[in-house]
Amino acid sequence: MTYKECLEHITDRLSDGGIEDAASDASLLMEYIAGISKNDIYLHPETEIAADACDKLKAAVDKRLTHIPLQHITSVQEFMGLEFKVNEDVLIPRFDTETLVEEVLRLGLSGVRILDVCTGSGCILLSLLHYMHDCEGTGTDISDKALAVAKSNAAKLGLKAEFVCGDLFDALKTQEQTEDKLKYDLIVSNPPYIRTDVIPTLDTEVKDHEPYIALDGSADGLSFYRRITDEAPAFLNKGGMLFFETGFDQGEAVSAILRDRGFIDIEIYKDLSGNDRVVKGEWR
Ligand code: GLN
Repeated sequence: MTYKECLEHITDRLSDGGIEDAASDASLLMEYIAGISKNDIYLHPETEIAADACDKLKAAVDKRLTHIPLQHITSVQEFMGLEFKVNEDVLIPRFDTETLVEEVLRLGLSGVRILDVCTGSGCILLSLLHYMHDCEGTGTDISDKALAVAKSNAAKLGLKAEFVCGDLFDALKTQEQTEDKLKYDLIVSNPPYIRTDVIPTLDTEVKDHEPYIALDGSADGLSFYRRITDEAPAFLNKGGMLFFETGFDQGEAVSAILRDRGFIDIEIYKDLSGNDRVVKGEWR
């Protein structure tokens, strides 16, 4: 079978099996499982695919047809132009989350201390550290296994960051640190925000394969926003900012939580689909 035939064959199999983005998944499987990039396919469509590559691809496509997320098969997800390692212990970085990173980058800050609460794969913190200059970064997560992924992403990207395990800010409190070292200029978070009753309606890829604790935001989806907003001021320098990713219908509710806690200059930013996606507040 040639590269071109292989791509068509995989696309057809995935599409017949009800996989939504069949063509894109097919090309990513060719790239990450068989090392045949899109470019290779366009430049050498008639090249015969090696037998072992063919076997590996067949096994990968069989897996994908059982609705295992593509990224659990390729082990990677691109985010902010950087390649992140992912597995079943972390939420797969979402394109929408780039909105949060881009809004922070728009501030044009450098030399600041950044805290990422519920860091997961580390995608938010590490892309901020990659694109900003001279910043120090800490990521917390309740899952040790998630932090292992975040640490390997930091190493892979050649970035220095500190990762500590614990429930939200508790992770920091258990560390022996001076008051100064506990304060940050920016706190960012994409906490679990899906309403518990909505989880069963999500795609199989998400509800059966992504970590439940990374999804469940309690009955009204807002519990982490309340807890983080409540504690954040104790960890923010004067003029420090809190940035949340929110669900498309949570912008107003999260803004109200920040306002009630005394944050000022609250703003809601939209994602590229025009939905509310990020809420920001400043602490004075
Ligand atoms: N911060 C990580 C992300 O945005 C993980 C978020 C989470 O686990 N809810 O992908």
